[in-house]
Amino acid sequence: MRRPLIIANWKMHKRLDDALHDAVAIKNQVSAVSKCDVAIAPVNVHLKSVADRLEGSGLLVAGQNCAVTNSDGAHTGEVSAEMLRNVGCRLVIVGHSERRTLYGDSDTSINQRVKAAVAAGLAAILCVGESIEERSAGHHLDVVDRQLLIGLNGLTLADAARIIIAYEPVWAIGTGVTATPEQAQEMHGHIRGKLAEMFGNGAAEQIRLIYGGSVKPENISELMSKSDIDGALVGGASLDPSSFASIVNF
Ligand code: PEP
Repeated sequence: MRRPLIIANWKMHKRLDDALHDAVAIKNQVSAVSKCDVAIAPVNVHLKSVADRLEGSGLLVAGQNCAVTNSDGAHTGEVSAEMLRNVGCRLVIVGHSERRTLYGDSDTSINQRVKAAVAAGLAAILCVGESIEERSAGHHLDVVDRQLLIGLNGLTLADAARIIIAYEPVWAIGTGVTATPEQAQEMHGHIRGKLAEMFGNGAAEQIRLIYGGSVKPENISELMSKSDIDGALVGGASLDPSSFASIVNF
């Protein structure tokens, strides 16, 4: 049985006071919930403070990206997965579509980031998903296959325990348009099949596949009713603690 995982991706939002206030508000509103893992991904400069504030609560803290290497050195502006782990992170988002489209993260560099995260002892949340043009052309399955094959290249069966896949169709991120539960389930089932080819059926059954793209309190229950949807990566609706708590308490 896969334990659901719901993550708040705060992106580049909130000053420190707001981040701490909202993290505590979420903690207070979801503390009675034991049916799923809950994580918050604030900006890097707030990670340690948020992690300290949530210590002992069971809520997890996630990075939004990590460097391609864990070796300290001349990488101005980068933060390694080991450093994320060192300040209390348990997970890191890798290959978010905003990283791919705005900051040039390639499948190859995303693969290096996934490996660095796993090597540092973090769970790597590999984001995959097609654009609207790719879906309209009927290429969505091929696009996601490529992102999976390159993104997970070289990972072993042992590493698979630290992998989480977030299916985030680019056309659904921040647009208010959610994939239908059927569209999401179709892709999640497909992804699980690919993971079975890569790591075997047993490992594929254990890997959590979460959905992202305009998840809201109103649509979470229907999405979560699908057999291969194991949670959600939530952007806009996670900025308001009550809205995020409603999603967690689906
Ligand atoms: C995201 O940023 O990962 C995301 C899914 O955003 P939103 O929920 O706003 O679509």
